[in-house]
Amino acid sequence: NSDLILYVNFELVNSETKGRYIVKDALGQGTFGQVAKCWDLESNKYVAVKIIKNQPAYYQQAVVEFSILDMLNKKYDPDDKHHIVRILDYFVFHRHLCISFEMLGSNLYELIKMNHFKGLPLNIVQAFSKQILHALVVMKDAGIIHCDMKPENILISTRLKPPQIKVIDFGSACVEGRTVYSYIQSRYYRSPEVLLGYPYTTSIDMWSFGCIVAELFLGLPLFPGASEYDLLNRMTEILGGQPPDSLLRDAKNTSKFFKHVGSIHRSEHDGTSKGIISAYRILTEDEYESRESKKPAIGKHYFNYVKLDDIVANYPYRKNLSEKEKSKESLTRLALVDFLRGLVEFDPGKRWSPLQASGHPFVTGDPFELPYKPPPESPRIPVMPTTVTVDHNPGGGHW
Ligand code: ATP
Ligand code: MG
Ligand code: MG
Repeated sequence: NSDLILYVNFELVNSETKGRYIVKDALGQGTFGQVAKCWDLESNKYVAVKIIKNQPAYYQQAVVEFSILDMLNKKYDPDDKHHIVRILDYFVFHRHLCISFEMLGSNLYELIKMNHFKGLPLNIVQAFSKQILHALVVMKDAGIIHCDMKPENILISTRLKPPQIKVIDFGSACVEGRTVYSYIQSRYYRSPEVLLGYPYTTSIDMWSFGCIVAELFLGLPLFPGASEYDLLNRMTEILGGQPPDSLLRDAKNTSKFFKHVGSIHRSEHDGTSKGIISAYRILTEDEYESRESKKPAIGKHYFNYVKLDDIVANYPYRKNLSEKEKSKESLTRLALVDFLRGLVEFDPGKRWSPLQASGHPFVTGDPFELPYKPPPESPRIPVMPTTVTVDHNPGGGHW
């Protein structure tokens, strides 16, 4: 709250440890504490200082945030080319751990809001996608899962033109293969495997990334699930299909959302494919209600169309476009849908990696003709995820 800001301001300037930072403004607030815009008397620059709440769980997670970002900065991105926020320093102030970062500007949610929740022009969506992918490539190489990719955690750099963005908030990040928490990611951006309670990898960030790209274009979230049940229903409606049976079979929350309707068999009697093709179907609202003994929260629908392809194709064109520009954009929209399909892919094993997505015509600007077939992933030593269920959320969104 603002008291803390004033208090910190007073203390930072007047403390006998001779003040280095002068608090100028509040930049944001989250589960972890708050972020203040400070003038750094040593570097003569503005910096963003994240002041962590004085509680052990937050302290611990902040240490993880610092270590992960410090490693990403120094080891994987020494020249600051991969659109990941730079960490500057850390210190303890009045029992609060503080981390200072380079000063950045508005986040992408604020940008969309300033634009009255209308989508951004496709060339901007393309440029931002490319930059976010840079960060995701680095994170995957380092085996880091961000766990909270969303527009609020992508900031526009204040200094550079054309605008550049940076990924921030590694406060929920973890190391691949050492995933501890099961309740992660902000709901709208939550991947099916996390929702269903299945071991997860860096590919959960690719799902969130797909949701972000769609939102940049549409101005509104693609899957604004008012509850996890609503979220899952929206995914199945908009994308068509559902998570693969292999995932549903092994995920620990499947029975919360799905009914087991039999084993997989493709109509043995007449040889056609009219038979059961999945052993599971999503529960109806009534079934969900009787099973979970609560009415599922169902949110508003923002789009006039149900399917992803139709939502994107029929999204209103900006007014000032000529016919020629419109027909060019309609092609780019086809590329966008194809791009999104590889990202918001139910099967984490089939979902594109950051490197695979980077080669897509929507990102490279190459002419788009056929559905993109990504090059195979270079084999990596597999890390076995060890998911332990801990129902505690250190900041994977406040939903
Ligand atoms: P959440 O509860 O959403 O996980 P958080 O407590 O982990 O948030 P951050 O996301 O790191 O904290 O920061 C909160 C907000 O503060 C951001 O959304 C952003 O608006 C602002 N902010 C963070 N870092 C910076 C920065 N380097 N420059 C400018 N503003 C920043
Ligand atoms: Mg945040
Ligand atoms: Mg956070």
